[in-house]
Amino acid sequence: MATAENVLKPDFGSKQRHFIFTDEHERLRESIRGFVEKELAPHADEWEETTFPDSVFRRMGELGFLGLSYPEEYGGQGGDYYCNLVLAEEMARSHSGGLAMGIAVHTDMATPPIFLFGTEEQKQRYLVPSIKGEKISSLGITEPDAGSDVAGIRTRAVRDGDEYVINGSKTYITNGHRSDFIVLVTKTDPDAGYDGFTLFLVDMDLPGVVREKKLEKLGMHASDTALLAFQDVRVPADAVLGEVGKGFYHIMWELQGERLIGAAGCVAGAQLCFERTLQYALERKAFGRQIGKFQVIRHKFAEMATKIESARQMVYTTAWRHQNGEYPVREISMAKLHAARIACEVADECIQIHGGAGYMKEYGVERVWRDMRLNRIGAGTDEIMLDVIGRSYGL
Ligand SMILES: Cc1cc2nc3c(=O)[nH]c(=O)nc-3n(C[C@H](O)[C@H](O)[C@H](O)COP(=O)(O)OP(=O)(O)OC[C@H]3O[C@@H](n4cnc5c(N)ncnc54)[C@H](O)[C@@H]3O)c2cc1C
Repeated sequence: MATAENVLKPDFGSKQRHFIFTDEHERLRESIRGFVEKELAPHADEWEETTFPDSVFRRMGELGFLGLSYPEEYGGQGGDYYCNLVLAEEMARSHSGGLAMGIAVHTDMATPPIFLFGTEEQKQRYLVPSIKGEKISSLGITEPDAGSDVAGIRTRAVRDGDEYVINGSKTYITNGHRSDFIVLVTKTDPDAGYDGFTLFLVDMDLPGVVREKKLEKLGMHASDTALLAFQDVRVPADAVLGEVGKGFYHIMWELQGERLIGAAGCVAGAQLCFERTLQYALERKAFGRQIGKFQVIRHKFAEMATKIESARQMVYTTAWRHQNGEYPVREISMAKLHAARIACEVADECIQIHGGAGYMKEYGVERVWRDMRLNRIGAGTDEIMLDVIGRSYGL
């Protein structure tokens, strides 16, 4: 029976599992964590130099981690959306933002449109091997002259008999060098406004597909980021993904999943950076005591923990709405904006708490800081998130 004594004890040590997760999710979490800590994390430093190998996809395919929420008939695990959250959270333990991003592009950005909008033939040809890790995917929205302004893209697909001819260029494409195919956003009717866009599934070994160069970046070094050109690339008419003319709406739908999973990754990355720094603050001494015992530092941890928790609650509640069939664009935008911002703030504060050590590669905090910075830009910048939120109030 509950007594005043045990009821009133703070439960700082409890696991605090959120209500969206079940025992099954926790078992999945354990299994992914074991794999990430054993097979991925030990290579994090090496892959910063070389980018992570393609074999990670095959291994994760074998383990069933690339199709957690896809139906079993396509080789998936038949789980719910929360399984994808678990994957995104546990991938943060690889200590390699670039690796986590390369996998997330495959599982939560490029393949979801195939599952939702693809024909049965396209699912068999692209989704099934993607879930097995036998095909690697990328997603091509951004162009040298249009990023935030998706409607401003110039890549053209022109119908020619039973084929389309594609010309254009895409940049900052994650997995662009290694991918077997790309989900490509094109314009098929430049005069039709938002109704003039069409998605294509384009095999990357087709004549005219040029992987121009690997781009050098501030962070996410384990991922490959490509500038791509499409020069008179001929694809059959059945390479259209979804409906001709509906590509803009299809890709706006895709971006919601991309933003929410990115937000989950931000929270998990911030949490790990927090824990690592907490450990440091308990070990490092200055002026005869642990630095964490200075009130200023203690308050930094309190601020960080509160920010992380606020972002986590936003992600979980929004994921719950998503799982229950809603399309919460405003809340996804808020979660993405907030999680990306707090992750950058936390990483920055963690460097400060480490002092000079925070600036050194050895401690891994500077990498989190560099990797996290992308989240305020990729998948829609802070400014675009604010605009979506503001407009949702009729402004
Ligand atoms: C490492 C990395 C990986 C990426 N991976 C992919 C990928 O796999 N596939 C893909 O398609 N793209 C990818 N991107 C592209 C990314 O999504 C874009 O960089 C992002 O959407 C911003 O577009 P932009 O770079 O063209 O910036 P711009 O659109 O040129 O924006 C520049 C600045 O202007 C601001 N701005 C623009 N419009 C407005 C407005 N209306 N109101 C207020 N401010 C505005 C922006 O917020 C920003 O601060 C990646 C980018 C990076 C850096």
